[in-house]
Amino acid sequence: MAGSKNKKKSSPAKKTAAKKPLKTNAIKKIAQKLKIVPVRAVPKKVRVNPVFQPLLAQLRKRRHEITGQVSHLEADLRDDMIDNQNTPGDSADHGSGELNQHLSVTLMENDRIELERIERAISRIETGTYGQCETCEKNIPMPRLKAIPWATRCISCQSRAEGA
Ligand SMILES: [Zn+2]
Repeated sequence: MAGSKNKKKSSPAKKTAAKKPLKTNAIKKIAQKLKIVPVRAVPKKVRVNPVFQPLLAQLRKRRHEITGQVSHLEADLRDDMIDNQNTPGDSADHGSGELNQHLSVTLMENDRIELERIERAISRIETGTYGQCETCEKNIPMPRLKAIPWATRCISCQSRAEGA
């Protein structure tokens, strides 16, 4: 009894899997399915820690001073340039004008750096991340903050960073 099962191998035409690159649309759809949504930033205007209120006032005052100073310097610089244009022949005047310009630019550069630090400190106070060492995450002692309100590191981390 040779029950020969005539098993016919039905071989479906092997389709070579098409290598379709995922389109960005498809990626977006997948992201939507998985509910991957970008993390929203922490809303601003967190209650300002009253401990830092005086520092905030100090920083804002300094910011005001600098912005006034910078616009004053910029006005001076413009005047200098106009003066130079009016007296093209006088080389001595021209030289001192350039020196003034250089000084003004340097001052403005320093102010800009300070202004940036101040802006960052203010926003940290407003978002409640102020007063923490960015390296060791310990609280920066108040006397240091009073001396340098835009300090982002405690003294030991700062000196380590500078020493490296
Ligand atoms: Zn530290």
